[in-house]
Amino acid sequence: MGGTADFNFVPVCFRTLFFYVLYCFQDTGGNCNVAVKAPKGTKDVLPQESYKWQYIENLVRKITALAGYREIRTPIFEHTELFLRGVGDTTDIVQKEMYTFNDKGNRSITLRPEGTAGVVRAFLEGGLPSNAQPTKMYYLSAPVFRYEKPQSGRLREHHQFGVEVFGAPDASIDAEVINIALTLLNELGLENLRLNINSIGCEKCRPRYNELLREYLHGHADKLCEACNERMDRNPLRALDCKEEGCRMVVKSAPLMIDHLCEECSAHFKALKKYLDALGIEYAVNPFIVRGLDYYTKTVFEIISNSIGAQGTVCGGGRYDKLMKQVGGPELPGIGFGMGIERLLLVMENEGIKIERPALTDVFLCTHGHQARLRAAQLVRDLRCAGVKADMDHCARSIKAQFKYADKIGAKFVGVIGETELADGTVVLKTMKTGEERVVVQSEIKELI
Ligand code: ATP
Ligand code: MG
Repeated sequence: MGGTADFNFVPVCFRTLFFYVLYCFQDTGGNCNVAVKAPKGTKDVLPQESYKWQYIENLVRKITALAGYREIRTPIFEHTELFLRGVGDTTDIVQKEMYTFNDKGNRSITLRPEGTAGVVRAFLEGGLPSNAQPTKMYYLSAPVFRYEKPQSGRLREHHQFGVEVFGAPDASIDAEVINIALTLLNELGLENLRLNINSIGCEKCRPRYNELLREYLHGHADKLCEACNERMDRNPLRALDCKEEGCRMVVKSAPLMIDHLCEECSAHFKALKKYLDALGIEYAVNPFIVRGLDYYTKTVFEIISNSIGAQGTVCGGGRYDKLMKQVGGPELPGIGFGMGIERLLLVMENEGIKIERPALTDVFLCTHGHQARLRAAQLVRDLRCAGVKADMDHCARSIKAQFKYADKIGAKFVGVIGETELADGTVVLKTMKTGEERVVVQSEIKELI
């Protein structure tokens, strides 16, 4: 009693602090009864929603297979060096967003912040440059990690579908890659999409343009953020991708790469537009897109949905003709894109697009008695072998409770096996939609379903 009275004399701010520390202690596992929560910025895919992922994944496999793309799977973590060289050490991703740590062998390891660098590394390490080119690949639902401020459509772990094509310099492949992304989005039923394209030049024309941009940015240095001021000399292009309001205002009047392309880049961009026209793909040239990765050359593009706000970019990609060499390989051109699955699902939800939930079970067998359960186990196995989704009670419930459960999981048919049915080798089969019941021979269930 005395203790409580004493505690009341403690100033409010200290009492608040005390409870906060207690809360944190519990939250971090001090109390075993408090459930451990998922880390901030991560999202579970629960069994009742994984069908949506599988639907998208099946569509991706179909669309990519028709165009001759094969799957590649690379590790979730790589040596940090790969991303420093690949993504670029002046990008926001490398400067602010990477999950980097030293492993027990004191090697610097980074959780993949994007898909391309790992694919390039694997392609080189697997000796694929000596194969006939181009090599067309895709990765699917690959976990990607970025330390960002979590919000709707922006996670710390998200998943990407991406394609990468190596060894094809022609603009026809730029158009093909864009078309693959759009085909998926269209087949998913998405509307209100915008395709923005741009060219950010190559090693021949970019240095001259960088000079102009650098000069311009120096003249407005006081309005630029700290990061842009720091990287202005090494990589002025980054200011065009900066999300800070001050920087966005400044770059509105900056010189544009598109006005300073060399002949080759200009011809490539013209050719891309022609291919897009030929494929009936609508686009807008947005000279401000540079994308957040340093490796891009020539074509860059974004597909944006108007149906969600700031996180409307569902797909981003471009050409990266120098990346292979930067990572230590031969000079082979590349092009690809990354598309966030969570963002895709969010846009679909906002547009009211529904994916049909597949039935969990076609036939559910209700049983009465031990022998009936044994027979049901055999029948369920036989039905599954014949390609019928079948299940039975595994909780020793009453017949009534089994029926209730079968109804809950949406079984189309419910079969009952009691003593009579066991003896004469039949099942009472009920069509749940109509309520119709009939007695059928056990071995003939599959023909009736
Ligand atoms: P943003 O400008 O929205 O940050 P980004 O330029 O960083 O996007 P990319 O690096 O091109 O995006 O990644 C390709 C795609 O991956 C994006 O178009 C988006 O769909 C998805 N994506 C990127 N970052 C996230 C994230 N933090 N959470 C969920 N999806 C993401
Ligand atoms: Mg980003």
